[in-house]
Amino acid sequence: MVNYAWTCSCCGEKYDTLPFDWSMAAPDDYNAVPEAEREVRTLISRNFCTVDGQAFVRGVIEIPVTDFDGTLRFGLWVSVSEASERTILQVWDDPDCSRHGPFFGWLRSRLGPYPDTLNLKASLRLRDDIAPAIDLKPTDHPLAVDQRRGISVTRVAEIAEKLMSHR
Ligand SMILES: [Zn+2]
Repeated sequence: MVNYAWTCSCCGEKYDTLPFDWSMAAPDDYNAVPEAEREVRTLISRNFCTVDGQAFVRGVIEIPVTDFDGTLRFGLWVSVSEASERTILQVWDDPDCSRHGPFFGWLRSRLGPYPDTLNLKASLRLRDDIAPAIDLKPTDHPLAVDQRRGISVTRVAEIAEKLMSHR
Protein backbone atom coordinates (compact mmCIF):
# COMPACT_ATOMS: atom_id res chain seq x y z
CA MET A 1 0.00 0.00 0.00
CA VAL A 2 1.23 3.42 -0.94
CA ASN A 3 -0.06 6.70 0.50
CA TYR A 4 -2.08 8.26 -2.25
CA ALA A 5 -5.54 9.82 -2.08
CA TRP A 6 -8.01 8.69 -4.72
CA THR A 7 -11.72 8.18 -5.20
CA CYS A 8 -13.10 5.05 -6.80
CA SER A 9 -14.94 6.11 -9.93
CA CYS A 10 -17.49 3.29 -9.68
CA CYS A 11 -18.67 3.62 -6.06
CA GLY A 12 -17.33 7.02 -4.98
CA GLU A 13 -15.48 5.45 -2.05
CA LYS A 14 -12.52 7.58 -0.90
CA TYR A 15 -9.19 5.91 -0.14
CA ASP A 16 -5.92 7.31 1.14
CA THR A 17 -3.77 4.36 0.14
CA LEU A 18 -3.36 2.65 -3.19
CA PRO A 19 -2.27 -0.97 -3.59
CA PHE A 20 0.84 -1.28 -5.75
CA ASP A 21 1.34 -5.01 -5.17
CA TRP A 22 -0.90 -7.72 -6.53
CA SER A 23 -0.29 -11.42 -6.59
CA MET A 24 -2.03 -14.50 -7.90
CA ALA A 25 -1.87 -17.49 -5.53
CA ALA A 26 -1.84 -20.04 -8.38
CA PRO A 27 -1.58 -20.26 -12.16
CA ASP A 28 -4.86 -20.44 -14.09
CA ASP A 29 -3.99 -24.06 -14.98
CA TYR A 30 -4.21 -24.93 -11.27
CA ASN A 31 -7.47 -23.04 -10.78
CA ALA A 32 -8.96 -24.98 -13.70
CA VAL A 33 -8.41 -28.35 -11.98
CA PRO A 34 -11.53 -29.45 -10.07
CA GLU A 35 -10.89 -29.33 -6.33
CA ALA A 36 -11.45 -33.07 -5.90
CA GLU A 37 -8.59 -33.80 -8.35
CA ARG A 38 -6.04 -31.33 -7.01
CA GLU A 39 -4.48 -33.66 -4.48
CA VAL A 40 -3.57 -36.15 -7.21
CA ARG A 41 -2.79 -33.85 -10.12
CA THR A 42 -1.18 -30.78 -8.57
CA LEU A 43 1.48 -29.54 -6.20
CA ILE A 44 1.61 -25.95 -5.04
CA SER A 45 3.75 -23.74 -2.84
CA ARG A 46 4.39 -20.03 -2.74
CA ASN A 47 6.58 -19.90 -5.85
CA PHE A 48 6.21 -23.30 -7.52
CA CYS A 49 3.35 -25.28 -8.91
CA THR A 50 2.93 -28.38 -11.04
CA VAL A 51 -0.21 -29.48 -12.81
CA ASP A 52 -0.10 -32.92 -14.45
CA GLY A 53 3.70 -32.70 -14.43
CA GLN A 54 3.90 -29.27 -16.08
CA ALA A 55 5.90 -26.83 -13.96
CA PHE A 56 4.98 -23.22 -13.21
CA VAL A 57 6.98 -20.56 -11.40
CA ARG A 58 5.68 -17.36 -9.84
CA GLY A 59 7.49 -14.20 -10.82
CA VAL A 60 6.83 -10.49 -10.73
CA ILE A 61 5.99 -8.17 -13.60
CA GLU A 62 7.20 -4.74 -12.54
CA ILE A 63 5.74 -1.65 -14.14
CA PRO A 64 7.36 1.70 -13.45
CA VAL A 65 4.98 4.46 -12.38
CA THR A 66 6.09 7.48 -14.33
CA ASP A 67 4.62 10.36 -12.30
CA PHE A 68 4.87 8.93 -8.78
CA ASP A 69 7.56 7.33 -6.67
CA GLY A 70 6.71 3.66 -6.94
CA THR A 71 6.50 0.51 -8.98
CA LEU A 72 3.36 -1.47 -9.74
CA ARG A 73 3.93 -5.20 -9.22
CA PHE A 74 1.94 -8.15 -10.45
CA GLY A 75 2.92 -11.55 -9.03
CA LEU A 76 1.98 -13.89 -11.88
CA TRP A 77 2.86 -17.38 -13.10
CA VAL A 78 4.78 -18.64 -16.10
CA SER A 79 5.08 -22.18 -17.36
CA VAL A 80 8.64 -23.41 -17.88
CA SER A 81 10.21 -26.39 -19.62
CA GLU A 82 11.37 -29.48 -17.72
CA ALA A 83 14.99 -28.52 -18.24
CA SER A 84 14.37 -25.01 -16.88
CA GLU A 85 12.41 -26.43 -13.96
CA ARG A 86 15.34 -28.67 -13.01
CA THR A 87 17.85 -25.83 -13.12
CA ILE A 88 15.59 -23.37 -11.29
CA LEU A 89 14.90 -25.82 -8.45
CA GLN A 90 18.58 -26.66 -8.21
CA VAL A 91 19.82 -23.07 -7.91
CA TRP A 92 16.79 -21.45 -6.20
CA ASP A 93 18.44 -21.14 -2.78
CA ASP A 94 21.86 -20.12 -4.08
CA PRO A 95 22.83 -16.61 -2.99
CA ASP A 96 23.90 -15.95 -6.59
CA CYS A 97 21.04 -17.69 -8.40
CA SER A 98 20.80 -14.69 -10.74
CA ARG A 99 23.83 -16.09 -12.60
CA HIS A 100 21.48 -18.67 -14.14
CA GLY A 101 19.01 -18.10 -16.94
CA PRO A 102 16.98 -16.21 -17.97
CA PHE A 103 14.41 -18.92 -18.70
CA PHE A 104 11.74 -18.83 -21.37
CA GLY A 105 8.16 -19.05 -20.10
CA TRP A 106 4.56 -18.59 -21.21
CA LEU A 107 2.45 -16.35 -19.00
CA ARG A 108 -0.24 -18.54 -17.40
CA SER A 109 -2.21 -15.93 -15.44
CA ARG A 110 -5.07 -13.85 -16.71
CA LEU A 111 -5.06 -10.29 -15.45
CA GLY A 112 -8.54 -8.72 -15.46
CA PRO A 113 -7.73 -5.10 -16.33
CA TYR A 114 -5.89 -6.17 -19.49
CA PRO A 115 -6.97 -7.96 -22.67
CA ASP A 116 -6.22 -11.71 -22.49
CA THR A 117 -2.72 -12.16 -21.08
CA LEU A 118 -2.61 -15.96 -21.33
CA ASN A 119 0.40 -17.23 -23.27
CA LEU A 120 2.22 -13.96 -23.59
CA LYS A 121 5.86 -14.81 -24.20
CA ALA A 122 8.05 -14.01 -21.25
CA SER A 123 11.46 -14.39 -19.81
CA LEU A 124 11.88 -15.43 -16.18
CA ARG A 125 14.91 -13.77 -14.61
CA LEU A 126 16.13 -15.11 -11.26
CA ARG A 127 17.21 -12.46 -8.77
CA ASP A 128 19.24 -12.90 -5.61
CA ASP A 129 17.09 -12.75 -2.44
CA ILE A 130 13.89 -11.57 -4.12
CA ALA A 131 11.23 -13.20 -6.29
CA PRO A 132 12.18 -13.68 -9.95
CA ALA A 133 11.27 -10.99 -12.45
CA ILE A 134 9.06 -11.67 -15.44
CA ASP A 135 10.12 -9.67 -18.49
CA LEU A 136 7.51 -9.75 -21.23
CA LYS A 137 8.69 -10.01 -24.82
CA PRO A 138 8.38 -6.55 -26.41
CA THR A 139 5.09 -7.03 -28.27
CA ASP A 140 2.16 -4.64 -28.82
CA HIS A 141 0.13 -6.25 -26.03
CA PRO A 142 -0.93 -3.46 -23.60
CA LEU A 143 0.69 -5.21 -20.63
CA ALA A 144 3.99 -5.54 -22.49
CA VAL A 145 3.74 -1.90 -23.59
CA ASP A 146 3.05 -0.79 -20.00
CA GLN A 147 6.06 -2.73 -18.75
CA ARG A 148 8.29 -1.02 -21.31
CA ARG A 149 6.92 2.51 -21.04
CA GLY A 150 5.51 2.70 -17.54
CA ILE A 151 2.09 4.04 -16.53
CA SER A 152 0.64 7.00 -14.66
CA VAL A 153 -0.56 6.78 -11.07
CA THR A 154 -4.10 7.54 -12.31
CA ARG A 155 -3.91 4.36 -14.34
CA VAL A 156 -2.66 2.47 -11.26
CA ALA A 157 -5.88 3.58 -9.49
CA GLU A 158 -8.01 2.41 -12.47
CA ILE A 159 -6.30 -0.97 -12.33
CA ALA A 160 -6.94 -1.17 -8.57
CA GLU A 161 -10.66 -0.45 -9.11
CA LYS A 162 -10.91 -3.34 -11.52
CA LEU A 163 -8.84 -5.78 -9.47
CA MET A 164 -10.80 -4.97 -6.31
CA SER A 165 -13.88 -6.03 -8.29
CA HIS A 166 -15.82 -2.87 -7.68
CA ARG A 167 -17.17 -3.45 -11.17
ZN1 LIG B 1 -15.59 1.24 -6.37
